[in-house]
Amino acid sequence: MTFKFSQRSEKHLTGVHPDLVKVVRLALTLAKQDFSVIEGLRTLERQKELVAKGASKTLNSRHLTGHAVDLVPYPVNWDKWSEFKQLADTVKQAAKQLNVPIVWGGDWTSFKDGPHFELDRAEYK
Ligand SMILES: [Zn+2]
Repeated sequence: MTFKFSQRSEKHLTGVHPDLVKVVRLALTLAKQDFSVIEGLRTLERQKELVAKGASKTLNSRHLTGHAVDLVPYPVNWDKWSEFKQLADTVKQAAKQLNVPIVWGGDWTSFKDGPHFELDRAEYK
């Protein structure tokens, strides 16, 4: 089965670092379950809103520089962590194939962020 991104997902890839876009696109070809890009590049205004709501913990988000994307399984069930985990495994596999170091927010211990993927700060400043 092959999936194709919706126009909405494509729009959210605009302004995202090309290496991360490559990873996301390869992941889509490897994925067993369809997924959507729900956020990419973010304005400072939007980031401030998210922090105020408690949806984000930092004003130093990688979304502000196009180094992060938020992906969710499609159709999304926010209670099914296993589906986020499976998507993360697929994205990690794609990143490995392309030799692009990424970090999954679901691996964070303090604030687990299942949809969040970013380019590793160590290699991408
Ligand atoms: Zn995010």
